[in-house]
Amino acid sequence: MNYTSTRDHSVTVPSAVAIANGISKDGGLFVPTEIPQLTLEEIGALSKVDYQARARAILGKYLTDFTAEELADCVSGAYGGGKFSSEKTAPVVKLDDSAYIQELWHGPTCAFKDMALQILPHLLTRAAAKTVGDKKIIILVATSGDTGKAALEGFKDVPNTQILVFYPSDGVSAMQKLQMVTQEGENVGVCAIKGNFDDAQNGVKAIFTDAAVAKLLDENGMQFSSANSINWGRLAPQIVYYISAYCDLVADGAIKAGDAINICVPTGNFGNILAAYYAREMGLPVKKLICASNANNVLTDFLKTGVYDRNRSFYTTISPSMDILISSNLERLLYLMSGCDDEKISGYMAQLKETGRYQVDEDILAKLQAVFEAGCCDDEQTKAAISEKFKAHHYLCDTHTAVAVKVYDDYRAASGDQTPCVIASTASPFKFCASVLSALDPALVKGEEFEMTKVLEQTTGVVCPSQLAGLEKKPIRFTDVRDKSDMRAAVYEMLHIEA
Ligand SMILES: *Cc1c(COP(=O)(O)O)cnc(C)c1O
Repeated sequence: MNYTSTRDHSVTVPSAVAIANGISKDGGLFVPTEIPQLTLEEIGALSKVDYQARARAILGKYLTDFTAEELADCVSGAYGGGKFSSEKTAPVVKLDDSAYIQELWHGPTCAFKDMALQILPHLLTRAAAKTVGDKKIIILVATSGDTGKAALEGFKDVPNTQILVFYPSDGVSAMQKLQMVTQEGENVGVCAIKGNFDDAQNGVKAIFTDAAVAKLLDENGMQFSSANSINWGRLAPQIVYYISAYCDLVADGAIKAGDAINICVPTGNFGNILAAYYAREMGLPVKKLICASNANNVLTDFLKTGVYDRNRSFYTTISPSMDILISSNLERLLYLMSGCDDEKISGYMAQLKETGRYQVDEDILAKLQAVFEAGCCDDEQTKAAISEKFKAHHYLCDTHTAVAVKVYDDYRAASGDQTPCVIASTASPFKFCASVLSALDPALVKGEEFEMTKVLEQTTGVVCPSQLAGLEKKPIRFTDVRDKSDMRAAVYEMLHIEA
């Protein structure tokens, strides 16, 4: 199987090149030239095996230039060895008559990004070995919270890699900061930047695209690569867990192989829900995909009108990982929905860059609406959903998951659709302790992060994941705070190279 660019059909590369390069030279995203199929017999067989076996089977259909042995090593390196606190890796929990929650946050950092970032370093090092030889891979990340920590944990002590993460000194939650500054590993670096997320992001982009830096790295046997969410090596592993959720429902007798389900996903960059769309296109019996947004509801408007318009207010919400106005992975969906029309996609993306807006054709909108439902909610509704689900079912959601729960409830009430629905749960509630506590009872919000963690445990009887509780006792390793003009020097220092 080969990969092409959403903006240029003349590109054809194997998956190793797509993963090693991250993005196509024309600015487009890599997509497989065909979508591999999954039969009901295969689904039946997969429902009898564990998560790692499911991952090997699904990834094997997409990454055909990797040997079975290589993929098995990648999968066990990511999901084996007790790295996930659930034996099922991504367990499905029944919430009510038709709602099931798939918990994607049992990995080392308690957010769903672990599902992809635990395996990406393994895929990336093997992909690089196939394409650029044995140069050391340098990963630079600018983070507003979850991605940086998940990338650090994923690349920690992976041979022949080094990872450097920059975060805005006042732009991440207390727990997120603590997660990063206590990071273990010999090949990791973490640095705070005086400024906001955009400053960190622009600094990383400037270093990443600087020819002089690239030359210096090359002379030292190193080269940059990217771990961001448009890398196909992050998307493919996400397809696995939707198929796994379906298999679990079959195994538990909740559905029969062939029965339809719906899937509801709290969405930011559109990566997670796009993976669900790929699962559906492979033949997984999925009726509707429900796209849930917070107050930054650019996707809700797009799926209702066909107009994507980022010229609007940006809101800082209690579900910060969904505070996004440009959903990069949407480009892949539009490519598929347009019948793989690379010229049309290039046109839309040029308009987005120039004017911040584009409108898709009637027929693309009709195709989108045949599959996707969309809804959004504000912070008050998010909190109400957390409180209501805890009271009714004793189930504690984080703020991102609660957005999806609320949007699903609205959809179910309006449509009467009782099809079993898998709701993607993207973070542990203990990662967003203050907001979750304030949803249950605002009077409980006081004191330091770990005091609130204990209050949340006492109030709910839910136990804080050891990955987070253990941070209190870990030594702080990274205290560097720099001006944004000083980021290049920080990179050279951390890599021990001289300009
Ligand atoms: C990143 C993230 C999301 C959004 O996922 P996308 O793939 O960007 O749509 C939702 N919830 C949490 C907790 C996240 O970290």
